[in-house]
Amino acid sequence: MRIGVMGGSFDPIHNGHLVAASEAAHRFGLDRVIFSPTGEAYHKSADDRAPAEVRYLMTVVATASDPRFHVTRVDIDRTGPTFTVDTLRDLRAELESGGLGADHEWFFITGADALAEILGWRDPDRILEAAHLVGVTRPGHRLADPGLPSGRVSLIEVPALSISSTDIRARVREGRPIRYLVPTGVANLIAKHRLYHGVVGSPA
Ligand code: ATP
Ligand code: MG
Repeated sequence: MRIGVMGGSFDPIHNGHLVAASEAAHRFGLDRVIFSPTGEAYHKSADDRAPAEVRYLMTVVATASDPRFHVTRVDIDRTGPTFTVDTLRDLRAELESGGLGADHEWFFITGADALAEILGWRDPDRILEAAHLVGVTRPGHRLADPGLPSGRVSLIEVPALSISSTDIRARVREGRPIRYLVPTGVANLIAKHRLYHGVVGSPA
């Protein structure tokens, strides 16, 4: 199989993530795209962040209607910060133990902005060994040469969706609409769990 992996905090997952995954799936002929919500981030202020289990739930709900999209718990169930090398290693094991074999071609999908960051982080060589990197453009970030190694890295443009989780959280906090920016099920979960509503300090 050709498998795409999309890691993120998905706090919340939004239509930008889904469009990016869909476009990458089309461009690279992916059989599935596995979304992997990150583990609990202790450095982030908890006030305006959703717990890992709720982020996982939102990701499941958002991807449920697309037969190509799957969600994994590997990063949520591992303690400590999430590193892409660990995600890819654990996913490989998860598929193998699920009877899907080990012979897959892996594509790690990420916003082009986050691409350079990932490679600068930890074990870039091992990441590139494990997966082809697909950097998707996001509005406000150029497709300028990020100094990436050629061959294993591709940059693709997705329809300009200037949607970010940061903006969604701000919208919820300020009572502005998020409809059509996130799947309906995600908007429902945000309301149900009263996510992102907390007013911390005074609005700027
Ligand atoms: P935040 O605003 O909290 O940083 P985010 O919208 O960037 O959230 P993440 O969960 O951090 O969402 O992103 C997961 C992955 O999706 C990252 O690789 C990121 O670059 C990418 N991404 C985020 N928003 C978009 C978008 N609108 N279009 C394409 N890719 C996106
Ligand atoms: Mg981000």
